[in-house]
Amino acid sequence: MRYLILLLISLALGCHVALADDYRYALQPVEIAQGVWLFEGVTEDFARDNGGNIVNTAFIVTDAGVIVFDTGPTRRYGEQMRETIGTVTDLPVTHVFLSHHHPDHVFGNQAFDPESLYALEGTIQRLAEQGDDFSDNLYRALGDWMRGTEVVLPTRGITPGRMTLDGRDIELIAMSGHSGADLVLLDHTAGVLLAADLVFYQRAPTTPHTPGLDVWREELRELEALDFRYLVPGHGPVVEGTVPFEQMHDYLGWLDDTLREAARQGLTASEVMALPIPERFDEIAVARHELIRSVSHLYGRYEREALALISEGG
Ligand SMILES: [Zn+2]
Repeated sequence: MRYLILLLISLALGCHVALADDYRYALQPVEIAQGVWLFEGVTEDFARDNGGNIVNTAFIVTDAGVIVFDTGPTRRYGEQMRETIGTVTDLPVTHVFLSHHHPDHVFGNQAFDPESLYALEGTIQRLAEQGDDFSDNLYRALGDWMRGTEVVLPTRGITPGRMTLDGRDIELIAMSGHSGADLVLLDHTAGVLLAADLVFYQRAPTTPHTPGLDVWREELRELEALDFRYLVPGHGPVVEGTVPFEQMHDYLGWLDDTLREAARQGLTASEVMALPIPERFDEIAVARHELIRSVSHLYGRYEREALALISEGG
């Protein structure tokens, strides 16, 4: 009997160790330009298989410290990100810039000093309002990957502009097209544009909080005109050049036209969700899934717009 108990205890301990190992993200930092490192996520939706690692996060090593750009989807991710940064440099993390309030970008905040967390005021406000709902949803979607994760609000607001940060020529740009408050970071020293979720590449964009596809498309034109060499999208592979902008314009333009025309024809939301997606978007991951979500986020606006046009015309 005693042996049986010992056996059970050792099995239980063995299980425990195996489980702890199961929640490793295996983050691989890649230096994409001088001093700029990327952690690239998969182009999927949140799932237990990926632990929510569907997002790109980055860090920049300056003369005096480390600038982190987004903290990932869970506390575990943030902690592992921080550990992995420590394998690249001994310098302390001095600034954590959060691109926007979506959970895959900010739920690793706990791993960092709250005094180092910076975001646009609009981001802080949105995270305060919506963070708990995001958290509930992610606990459901990711299970134990989310263990211990809590919403941490940044303490420091951002004043956009160009500045020298510990020897690095950095520009912080405030936009709104994707989430209502979107921060873009342009590292002039290395020629890297961290575009966050204003740019998705090879993965369909998410639209729950866009102020309008027209606003988003206008800001894409502004971003494209900036002086950079490497483009890091919020989701999808890093690219030298501007190719992702073509895909974004094409996709958002198609989505905008499709929703407007469908509303003009009086299609129901479920009919719009089932409309064909052009073959040229075959290489864009989760396109059907995001079309369905986009219809639920946006179609009401287009229907109201169509009705207003009819009543004006009548
Ligand atoms: Zn987002």
